[in-house]
Amino acid sequence: MATTDEQLVRDRVGDLLATHDPKVTKPREFLGAQFDAGLAWVHFPEGHGGLGLGPKLQRVVNEAIVAAGGPTPWLRNIIGYGMGAPTVAAEGTEEQKRRYLRPLFTGEEVWCQLFSEPGAGSDVAALATRAVRDGEEWIVNGQKVWTTLAHVAKWGMLVSRTDPEQPKHKGMTYFVVDMEAPGVEVKPLRQITGDAEFNEVFFTDVRVPDAQRLGDVGEGWRVALTTLMNERVAIGGTVQPRGSGPIGEAVKLWREKGWTGPAVRDRLLSLWVEAEAVRLTNLRAAENRRRGTPGPEGSTGKLAFAELNKRVYELCMELLGSEGMLYGSYEMTRPDIAMGSPTLQQAFLRSRANSIEGGTSEIMRNILGERVLGLPGDVRVDLEPPWSQVPRS
Ligand SMILES: Cc1cc2nc3c(=O)[nH]c(=O)nc-3n(C[C@H](O)[C@H](O)[C@H](O)COP(=O)(O)OP(=O)(O)OC[C@H]3O[C@@H](n4cnc5c(N)ncnc54)[C@H](O)[C@@H]3O)c2cc1C
Repeated sequence: MATTDEQLVRDRVGDLLATHDPKVTKPREFLGAQFDAGLAWVHFPEGHGGLGLGPKLQRVVNEAIVAAGGPTPWLRNIIGYGMGAPTVAAEGTEEQKRRYLRPLFTGEEVWCQLFSEPGAGSDVAALATRAVRDGEEWIVNGQKVWTTLAHVAKWGMLVSRTDPEQPKHKGMTYFVVDMEAPGVEVKPLRQITGDAEFNEVFFTDVRVPDAQRLGDVGEGWRVALTTLMNERVAIGGTVQPRGSGPIGEAVKLWREKGWTGPAVRDRLLSLWVEAEAVRLTNLRAAENRRRGTPGPEGSTGKLAFAELNKRVYELCMELLGSEGMLYGSYEMTRPDIAMGSPTLQQAFLRSRANSIEGGTSEIMRNILGERVLGLPGDVRVDLEPPWSQVPRS
C-alpha cells in the first residue's frame, strides 16, 4: 500500500502531467513547473525544488515523467544536476539556493566543475589557482583543465587556494564563478572521439563576489568532497533496469549479427552477470545512502562501472567486426551535452575516459583498499607542511 508521502508525490506528479502535457509543453517550461511543484529533488527543502521527503520517492517522479515522455534534466546539465545541485543544497545559503537551483534544474544555466589543474588531478588538493580577497570580492588567477562543458556553462564550481601558508587541505575556498565574467577564457581540448567535450579554463584577475562563496573561507576541501562524492555516484551509481544500458546494446548486437559460437556467448554472458552484479551493488549503495549511511560505495561503484563499461564496448567492437573501424567523422565538434555517444564506435572510444574522469581507477582502488579493506595507506609527506613549501610539478 502506498505510504502517505508516496501518495502525495503521486498526486503531485499527476497534477503536473495534467496541467503540463509534456508532449506540448516546452521542456524548460515543464521543468520549471516540476521544480515549483517540489518534484525536482523531493528530498530538498520546500521552496527549493523539493518537498522535504525521503530521496527514494524521486524514483516515483522520474519514472512517471519519463513514461509520459517528459524531459530529463540530468542529460541537459549533467554536472549541475549530479554535482552542483547537491553541493548548493548542502552548503549554500538560502539566498544561494534561491538563486542557483531553479535555472540549474531547467537547464537555463549549465554548470561545470573547475577542480583539475595541470599539476593537480588525482591529487586535487595540490591545486594552485589563487583567490585573493579584495574587500567584498576575490581576485582569481590560475588555470583549470579538463573542464567538461565549460564552453556552454554559466556557472563553474571553483576550488581555489586562499591561504598558501596553511597545509594543502586547509587553505582552500570554494566559489561559484560566473563563466561569463571578464578574465575567464575557455579553450577547447579535443578527446579521442574527435569531440571537445572538455576545455582548458584560464583565469586572469577574475573578480568573484564574496556572496558567491560556498562554505566558509578555508573550508574548500570539505565542500569539494561533497561535490566529489556526488560525482562518483553521478558517473557510476545510476541503477538502470536489468539488462539495459551498454550490456543491453551488446546483447542486441550479438543477436543482430547472428553470432553462434560458444566462446563469444560465454564472454557475453560473463559480462552480463558482471553487469547485473554491478547493478545490484549500486542498488544496495543507493539504499544505504537513503538510510543516511553513505560510505565508500560511490567510489567502488564508479570503479566497477568504469572497468566493466570499457570491456563491454570492447566486446561490441569485436561483435561489429570490420564495421567497428568505420567512424563517421573526426571533425572537431563542441557538444552541449557530455557523455552522449550516438554510435557504438564513438561509445567505445568515449568509454576509455571512464576510468580517468571523476577519479581514476587506481585512486578508486586506493579508496577501496584503505577505507573498505583497512590496508595501510600511501606514505604521505605533504599533509602537514604549508602548501607553499610542498614541492610541486
Ligand atoms: C572525459 C573527462 C572529463 C573530465 N571532466 C572534468 C571536469 O569537468 N572537471 C574537472 O575538474 N576535471 C575533469 N576531468 C579530470 C579528471 O578528474 C582527472 O583527469 C583525473 O582526476 C586524473 O587526474 P590527472 O589527469 O591529472 O592524472 P594524474 O593524477 O596525473 O594521474 C596520472 C596517472 O597516475 C595514477 N596515479 C596518480 N596518483 C596515484 C596514486 N596515489 N596511486 C596510484 N596511482 C596514482 C593515475 O591513476 C593515473 O593513471 C575529466 C577527465 C576526463 C578524462
